[in-house]
Amino acid sequence: MSTIAFIGLGNMGSGMAANLAARGHLVRAFDLSAEARARAEAAGCQPAATAQEAVAGAEAAITMLPAGAHVAEVWRETVFGHAAPGSLLIDCSTIDVATARALGAEAAARGLEAVDAPVSGGVAAAAAGTLTFMVGGSDRAFARAQPILAAMGKAVIRAGESGAGQAAKICNNMLLAASMIATAEAFALAEKLGLAPQAFYDIASKSSGQCWSMTSYCPVPGVGPESPADHGYQGGFATALMLKDLRLALAAAAEAGAQVPMGARAGELYEAFAKAGNDALDFSAIITALR
Ligand code: NAD
Repeated sequence: MSTIAFIGLGNMGSGMAANLAARGHLVRAFDLSAEARARAEAAGCQPAATAQEAVAGAEAAITMLPAGAHVAEVWRETVFGHAAPGSLLIDCSTIDVATARALGAEAAARGLEAVDAPVSGGVAAAAAGTLTFMVGGSDRAFARAQPILAAMGKAVIRAGESGAGQAAKICNNMLLAASMIATAEAFALAEKLGLAPQAFYDIASKSSGQCWSMTSYCPVPGVGPESPADHGYQGGFATALMLKDLRLALAAAAEAGAQVPMGARAGELYEAFAKAGNDALDFSAIITALR
């Protein structure tokens, strides 16, 4: 079992760190919030007073922070200077591809190994240890990260070299945003045309319009398997987080010169929906604005 530093014990990181500790790793946990550190201690982690203390002597250091600026600051100001030579850095946050690649290169230049390993699955999957990790980094770094990530998830998939994990994450979420809006507007139109939502679901879920947003996460309450729609759109994947991922995807598309008209329109619709005060609601609540 390994000594692992874990920095960022928020909604996602708290459950992930607890799962590593439950599988027998010594987890040195740090967050700026004392309350988060206390929660981690109660879950079997060893709280660290500073990020330096968490990282010193650890074989691996994991970050699960809000955005690229936080990860860059923590890696450059703390991790690079205090991580043991040859140790493995794993960033599980969702951040921009350019920062992920830059940090991977800076780590390599310092004799450290690094992977970007963003996750699919929300707070419930983080707590249950059933996340999907999409990993960017060398074969060697992936082989080292795999058993650590497997302790927190149901699938660990190598996407390619440094930054490829983040690329996979934002492409997936751009597709999800567009498919959720398309599903929501199809249900809204079906209702206006006098079709019962259940009847439309029964037909479309077995026809060519079928997609995950319909059959696993239906935006209409009482239709399909249980989803945030059945709980007033509380919990689930917040609109604010979907908007964050869409902005990352659109910025990456602009930089790469890729045409993403559907992603761009999804970004406009989620931007307006969030601005109207809905940023804490699950992203499937966009159907309420389309009705
Ligand atoms: P969160 O805001 O709940 O947690 C972030 C934590 O980082 C906070 O506890 C904060 O105190 C801590 N933090 C910030 N700066 C720090 C620093 N310099 N040093 C130490 N700790 C610091 O966020 P979250 O929901 O846990 O999400 C984390 C990442 O995972 C984000 O990049 C998010 O996009 C991604 N993600 C979230 C979900 C989800 O459903 N919540 C799903 C998939 C991916």
